[in-house]
Amino acid sequence: MEEAKIVVVGAGPAGIATAVEAKAAGIEPVVVLEKSDKPCETIHKYYHPGKRVDPVYRKVKVEPIGICRFDTCTKEEFLELMERYIKEYDLDVRYWHEVHKIEREGDCFVVHAGKDTVIKAPVVVIAIGIFGRPNKPRYPIPKEVKDRVFLGTQAELPENFKKVLVVGGGDSAAETACFLADKGAQVYLSYRRPQFFRINETNMAELEKRVKEGKITLMMNTDIEGLEPAPEGVQVNFKDGQKMVFDAIFYCLGGSTPENFLRSIGVEMDGKRPKVDEYYETNVPGLFLAGDLVFEKGSIMAAFNSAHKVVEGIKKKHAARLERGC
Ligand SMILES: Cc1cc2nc3c(=O)[nH]c(=O)nc-3n(C[C@H](O)[C@H](O)[C@H](O)COP(=O)(O)OP(=O)(O)OC[C@H]3O[C@@H](n4cnc5c(N)ncnc54)[C@H](O)[C@@H]3O)c2cc1C
Repeated sequence: MEEAKIVVVGAGPAGIATAVEAKAAGIEPVVVLEKSDKPCETIHKYYHPGKRVDPVYRKVKVEPIGICRFDTCTKEEFLELMERYIKEYDLDVRYWHEVHKIEREGDCFVVHAGKDTVIKAPVVVIAIGIFGRPNKPRYPIPKEVKDRVFLGTQAELPENFKKVLVVGGGDSAAETACFLADKGAQVYLSYRRPQFFRINETNMAELEKRVKEGKITLMMNTDIEGLEPAPEGVQVNFKDGQKMVFDAIFYCLGGSTPENFLRSIGVEMDGKRPKVDEYYETNVPGLFLAGDLVFEKGSIMAAFNSAHKVVEGIKKKHAARLERGC
């Protein structure tokens, strides 16, 4: 069976930064297992082309503490930066390797990925984020309208949507609304509160500009009761009795922790969140979490920083384990 010192699960910002920090600390071999065919699948899939990637996200400014860092750039520039880290640190990233089981064997972990990859390691870092499971609305989505309802922004969008509804009140809802408006759609943005409080200044300014231009209509204080199929569209029934028909709906409601996966390895949860210490180590010795999994308000810079703390924790607490191997 193949052996590594550290297996990192997920090649998003947190996973790549963990491997970079580990390599820089002289720890080898480190293997990164990624379920898709490229690094940063969440960013590829949910960021629209040309999206501005801000280090200040959800109004939270996070100062970098580790090796990986970035300034405001586009989606494409950010992805290039991640490719550069992979090359520069000669990271061993294995694509099409979805991790489906992690077992404990004495002081070690046995990680099962893809069809038949099995790797043993004394330390495992899980960095799979929360966007594998984007949040859904509480009401059902009728099957007749499924091709008109999107969870999160989509990098690839059908061209023929003229009147669309975006649901949410955060940065990604604001960015999605602006992106769709710039593609020529008449956009309605529904948020259940009377005002926005989570959108950063730049996105707020962009949103207000398009509202003034008449491209986006804000629907504050609106809550949706349910959806119905309509001829050539989807009917949205609001709780105040209003009914409107749209070509498509985009829900920007964030993602959720893969609780079952974590519990299956023995990770204790505190409600819906995993219990971790200051180095993001779980109650299972040698099993660390990084990135969105450990934050209430995750962001790329927070993911980078968590990787730095994780490797600091590995060096401090598990030097003997690494030395011994499996
Ligand atoms: C629309 C949108 C806009 C955003 N804009 C910004 C922004 O401007 N600035 C900012 O700082 N943050 C932004 N964020 C948040 C940011 O994208 C996340 O905080 C960040 O991607 C978290 O990194 P991560 O590595 O923890 O998780 P992810 O980026 O989600 O990466 C997880 C990786 O793990 C892989 N994976 C999942 N399950 C498995 C498995 N079982 N086995 C192997 N691999 C697996 C996935 O394919 C993925 O590549 C935005 C998020 C969204 C959705």
